Amino acid sequence: MSADTILTSTDLTAFFPRLASGKVRDVYTLSPSTLLFIATDRISAYDVVLSTGIPGKGRLLTQMSAHWFAVLPSLVPGLRTHFVSMALPSALEENTELADVYRGRSMQVRRLKVFPIESIVRGYITGSAWAEYRRSGTVHGGRMREGLRESEMLEEPIWTPSTKAEAGSKDENISPEKAAELIGQNYASQIRDLSLRIYSAARDYALERGIIIADTKFEFALDESTSPPSVVLVDEVLTPDSSRFWDKEKYEVGRPQESLDKQYLRDWLTKNKLKGVDGVEMPREVAERTARGYREAYERLTGELQQR
Ligand code: ATP
Ligand code: MG
Repeated sequence: MSADTILTSTDLTAFFPRLASGKVRDVYTLSPSTLLFIATDRISAYDVVLSTGIPGKGRLLTQMSAHWFAVLPSLVPGLRTHFVSMALPSALEENTELADVYRGRSMQVRRLKVFPIESIVRGYITGSAWAEYRRSGTVHGGRMREGLRESEMLEEPIWTPSTKAEAGSKDENISPEKAAELIGQNYASQIRDLSLRIYSAARDYALERGIIIADTKFEFALDESTSPPSVVLVDEVLTPDSSRFWDKEKYEVGRPQESLDKQYLRDWLTKNKLKGVDGVEMPREVAERTARGYREAYERLTGELQQR
């Protein structure tokens, strides 16, 4: 294996206990307070993971999150994050082969108690929000002004939380009131305010770099070691997996937009009637085109060529 290997699964259980495997990330326990957060090259579309990975994707997602964790605290004063470091644990660092595979795609983060909601912010109306609006004039149950067009920028970004469903089931859109019922009004308000501030700062930052962040999903956790306990930004942040990135140059209101990353793959799945089918294998060309979209987003946002 080398740095160029497409990594779709990990087994580091000889070194650390595995805590969880999500659709994209494998998480190991380094200590009671620290986790190793590894982004594999797996890709999911329409909620199913494909059997082929995307070359370079895990590294790119990790580095994009790291970029935001470095930039955001100065754009959003008072923001706290789970980021600890990009250093590899010594057990991996000492093994040249493993170090090659895991360097750049792994991040050490603080282990915290994640709130069971997905904190979504929308600056533009698209996707499931557009579908709901067309049906009922609302988004996540909240009334919107009449006459909005597909992909139109909203006057103010809106907070539209959803539940964080167990593996295999689908997240459900909920109202802010329902979120407050689930996690308490105090934390729901803090999460809402932080999410809107982070989104607005990131939207402006990205727009200067030619990218529209149409919407995005954050996760937050509670740090009980402070008094009072504090709300901390966790998980991946503002990546093409957690957000819709559009090319500013190609943006046109009144129609769906191409996303910079998964659009080619989604279109290919739809065209081949493979939407939602488990374990689909992508042809090389589809994987390469998709990889190109991810790289494009990364290079524009960070101003850097992807590092190895
Ligand atoms: P889900 O997020 O619903 O588990 P997923 O497929 O998105 O599905 P991944 O992103 O692959 O999951 O895995 C990351 C997991 O780690 C998520 O469940 C996320 O909530 C959790 N997580 C993120 N940050 C932390 C943290 N600091 N402490 C503990 N858990 C975290
Ligand atoms: Mg996730």
